[in-house]
Amino acid sequence: MLTPLLSPDMIQAVLDALPTPVFFKDRQGVYRGCNRAFSELMGKTCSELVGLTVHDLSPPELATVYQEADDALMREGGEQRYEAQLQPCRGGARRDVIFHKAVLRDERGEVSGLVGIIIDITERKALENRLANLARFDPLTGLLNRRAILAHLEALHHDRRKQRQPVCLMMCDVDHFKSINDRYGHAVGDEVLRHVALTLRAHLRDADALGRIGGEEFLVVLDSTDLDQARQVADRLREAVATAPVMCANRAVSVTVSLGLAQSDSVDEDWASVIARADEGLYAAKRTGRDRVIVAEGAPRLLVEKDWHRA
Ligand code: GH3
Ligand code: MG
Ligand code: MG
Repeated sequence: MLTPLLSPDMIQAVLDALPTPVFFKDRQGVYRGCNRAFSELMGKTCSELVGLTVHDLSPPELATVYQEADDALMREGGEQRYEAQLQPCRGGARRDVIFHKAVLRDERGEVSGLVGIIIDITERKALENRLANLARFDPLTGLLNRRAILAHLEALHHDRRKQRQPVCLMMCDVDHFKSINDRYGHAVGDEVLRHVALTLRAHLRDADALGRIGGEEFLVVLDSTDLDQARQVADRLREAVATAPVMCANRAVSVTVSLGLAQSDSVDEDWASVIARADEGLYAAKRTGRDRVIVAEGAPRLLVEKDWHRA
């Protein structure tokens, strides 16, 4: 039976044959060896790399991350796996990578350094980001989708209720949108929705959240805003939409919106019940002629017609 025979040259040859970058460092964090894939990644030969530290090879903000991870690993022993970014030597965009490292020990069992590999996960991360965006944003308008705006509202409502800060909600619905579709076609209808979305967004602060909650319905969440301030914002939004007709195929299409407004003003009130009140304001705006803002008055309702929790 053949016994494994690995001379130092053979070990290096085996490491060089691996397509995954491999490196090892001593107790002081100085590179003491690597394979060809790591050399190519860092743009230096192995002998040029030996003697350097992460601070010689990487931008300061990345070097600090690697250094802290190395220190923790040498202190705690065992192995370590974390995601970070890496700046390739050739320049270009940073790569998303996983560092998988383990401590090396000498014959007395003392930590003498570490060995690590680098796994490039840039494509996987890009796909994850694309999927996360698809799950979060409405493809037609680019706004938050129903699920994302409701999740935002729930979290904000929870925080602001503890801090006793007001949050105001606006339900905003395009008036007679069905007749816009019927008259000009669905494509123009879509263009109108994009235009309304852009107009609303342009007249809100960055801290205010806006989402498309249904076909031609939008929800605005105004953080740390009381009803008087929210009323002014709602009037501004209504006017901005009404005074800027959408140009579609050289035709000016007039659009108006109705808005229902409610403030979360009770420490016991549930966010779904605040939405239900804003919805009541919206329906009152529709009933009384459209192109207007109605503030939902009165105590929070105990019975919620639409079950927003199950949205
Ligand atoms: P009201 O003033 O009472 O709100 O009347 P409305 O016509 O706006 O309301 P209604 O609910 O009767 O009609 C909404 C229409 O919106 C019906 C639906 O076909 C259309 N719609 C929903 N989603 C989209 C979309 O993504 N694109 C387009 N073009 N139309 C849509
Ligand atoms: Mg409508
Ligand atoms: Mg509607």
